[in-house]
Amino acid sequence: MREIDPHRRGKVHNHLHSEKVSKAFIKNIADNKHSTGSVYSDDKSDKKDSIKWTLKEIYHQKCAFCESKLTNDYGDIEHYRPKNKSEKESKDCDKGKSYYWLAFGWDNLLPACKRCNGKKSNCFDIDGEYKEYEGESLEDLHLVTQKYNEVEKPKLIHPEYDRFEKDIVFDSEGKMRSDNERVAYTIRVCDLNRENLVGSREEIVTDFISKLNRHLLTFDKVFNGNNLEECLEYFKVSIEDFCKESRKEYEYSLIRKYIKDNLIEFLESIEIGYDDKGFAILIIESAFGEFCLEDK
Ligand SMILES: [Zn+2]
Repeated sequence: MREIDPHRRGKVHNHLHSEKVSKAFIKNIADNKHSTGSVYSDDKSDKKDSIKWTLKEIYHQKCAFCESKLTNDYGDIEHYRPKNKSEKESKDCDKGKSYYWLAFGWDNLLPACKRCNGKKSNCFDIDGEYKEYEGESLEDLHLVTQKYNEVEKPKLIHPEYDRFEKDIVFDSEGKMRSDNERVAYTIRVCDLNRENLVGSREEIVTDFISKLNRHLLTFDKVFNGNNLEECLEYFKVSIEDFCKESRKEYEYSLIRKYIKDNLIEFLESIEIGYDDKGFAILIIESAFGEFCLEDK
């Protein structure tokens, strides 16, 4: 999960003003449930300017929850507030409810991978009071998430309206956790510590540590006490790449950002292939100071 600037969403997607969507909305209201199947696409679901394409653009072509890249036709339109009600309670969430009137609400739509969409399913637990349909027109329901969140106090994070990155902690094996209840709920409900995600994140960490260790070896051979600046150059490309890939457009970028922002703590927690660990940390810290460019 990365925080997304809400301004990236822009104006309500054109297709949500179409007659097809308008009819589907009216039918949902008449039936008191989502009963209209998928009408988002107009049979061009992954063409430029489709809803799915636009959502993927807003989220840097990534799943809103797990940060997996949604390449080509991969990815679903996920409803932050579920359009259908859960059939049964699960270990992860209560029975929940159907927000059938928000099935076409613009900021209720998020891009998600099939795994997160399947895992989250219709989970949407709240700590506040449930909102009900109050006779609004479709046009009045496109940007109601923040207003609803104030009343319902949902447990699930919305990447555009919540600030949560600083509440996420990673270990060197790629697992994420949080002491913030809402973030922990989102991690659990979307299963963000599933095997393939942890594996991919661990690979990022081990790859980076092995590069640092290699550079430290070279550094050790050539450093004579006077040529520090020159020797830091050995770290340049690896650190520049690592910091560049901590930007939001890169897959699994949050773990890189976490390491970058908590560098010393992270380095202290791992094995470093250098006898004087304190000195190695000092060298790596200096190299980051030199070569890690600020987020754009
Ligand atoms: Zn995902």
